[in-house]
Amino acid sequence: MSVTEVSELNLALRKYFGYDQFRGDQESIIKSILDKKNTFVIMPTGGGKSMCYQLPALLSEGTAIIVSPLIALMKNQVDAIRNVSDDDSVAHVLNSSLSKTDANRVKEDIKAGKTKLLYVAPESLTKQSNIDFFTSVKISFFAIDEAHCISEWGHDFRPEYRRLREIFEAISDVPIIALTATATPKVQQDIQKNLNMLDAHLYKASFNRDNLYYEVRPKRDVEKEIIKYIRKRKGKSGIIYCLSRKKVEQLSEILRVNGINALGYHAGMDAATRVKHQDAFLMEEADVIVATIAFGMGIDKPDVRFVIHHDIPKSLESYYQETGRAGRDGGVGECVAFYAYKDIEKLEKFLQGKPVAEQEVGRQLLFEIVSYAETSICRRKYLLHYFGEEYDDSRCSEMCDNCRNPKEKTEGKTEVLNLLHSVIELKEMQRAPHICSFLNGENTTEINSYKHNLLPHFASGKEHDKILWNAVIRQALVAGLISKDIETYGVIKMTERGHEFIEKPHSFILVKEHDYTLDEDSGD
Ligand code: ADP
Ligand code: ZN
Repeated sequence: MSVTEVSELNLALRKYFGYDQFRGDQESIIKSILDKKNTFVIMPTGGGKSMCYQLPALLSEGTAIIVSPLIALMKNQVDAIRNVSDDDSVAHVLNSSLSKTDANRVKEDIKAGKTKLLYVAPESLTKQSNIDFFTSVKISFFAIDEAHCISEWGHDFRPEYRRLREIFEAISDVPIIALTATATPKVQQDIQKNLNMLDAHLYKASFNRDNLYYEVRPKRDVEKEIIKYIRKRKGKSGIIYCLSRKKVEQLSEILRVNGINALGYHAGMDAATRVKHQDAFLMEEADVIVATIAFGMGIDKPDVRFVIHHDIPKSLESYYQETGRAGRDGGVGECVAFYAYKDIEKLEKFLQGKPVAEQEVGRQLLFEIVSYAETSICRRKYLLHYFGEEYDDSRCSEMCDNCRNPKEKTEGKTEVLNLLHSVIELKEMQRAPHICSFLNGENTTEINSYKHNLLPHFASGKEHDKILWNAVIRQALVAGLISKDIETYGVIKMTERGHEFIEKPHSFILVKEHDYTLDEDSGD
């Protein structure tokens, strides 16, 4: 790129959006699209993904088609773009809610070359009449917002998203840009495979949020704990997530009775009440919002100081998204989750009756959240490892409970070796619970039927309990000595590093896990 081109992009940024500088990788991403390369952007919420397709769309000939799952979000985006360009025809939405006349007007603007961005829902894109129309006009590129909807491993799988590639191919041979805030390696792989863009230019931003403090507390006297917690933070904004609408109603009521300025929010409330409560929170008339996951999409309140999970969510992605709403202004945001294994069992019950594959996925995601809750290594390290990112926990600077109050540490070289040998003896075909039973020398049905009790390392770790063996497995995973195969729902495999460890064993410091099994209470 020549210097003049660089400054042209900067000028365009200033002209259209009034910003002086690109953020993170925005500039390279925009160049990649303008160079007609397939591009894959993984960036946390609030990172500035929209800009990555909006600016090149404004600068390109033809119309960019933006696929987006939520009509409400599309409208916001279109309004924002119209604002910067003073011309209403520059951006449009095409979806089933438009009247025939309105839809025709949109199409006229596209034909006339006035429309630079067209937001469509995947359902509208699959309509044959629309496909026919799009083949007759000039398309600059396709953008897929919330691209994780393609993957069953994302938190919001949408089957229609899986047809996008074939529709794009039918319309035009132009570049595709996929964007998501879900960073797990599995989702990433799914998206790239499904869109047939393994060669895409990949831009992955770090998911680390230095200003967020992470903590997990055992779920005991949870309501009292929450009241105490909020009273200590008088006048601060916070969100409390609950699993059920009923809990939202109850808890917001309890908080109000206790003099806390709290309102509820869930999808069962009528639209007017929801808007009223949301606005009261945004306008600081209410300090605390007690909500189900229905709350938060597209909400940008910069000074949320805490996010409490009264109930643990169903995946670490959800946890990251929901806690991500704290500290947007860069100030400290505290993220506290109340954990009881009983809640996991409840979430497991929700899975019953779903298709088998979905159940397996769901269980695997739950296993990860349990591991996060029970681990005593740096929470941030664990979370980032889950997103495929290596993180040196000395950087956490006590911004998680485990770094603030480290648990007892012991030398675990022997245990790690025991584990690795067991993984190999079990032919890299077993999941964590089986390996724990094996090390513990339990005669489970599976162990007996596979005759695993005859193998040399059977019961080689019976002096330790399962809590310890789970800890060894988790910590070996995070250290990259073993890996979990996601295609097979969590079968433990050896890695290069694991084999090296067997050849040249070295010190491995184990941290004792939390034990939440004592007198727990799920808060109902
Ligand atoms: P995402 O889609 O990744 O969640 P958005 O596209 O909504 O993030 O951007 C988050 C915020 O950052 C928006 O308010 C947007 O206007 C702002 N923003 C984006 N790019 C820049 C930039 N280069 N300079 C300043 N603000 C930016
Ligand atoms: Zn930490």
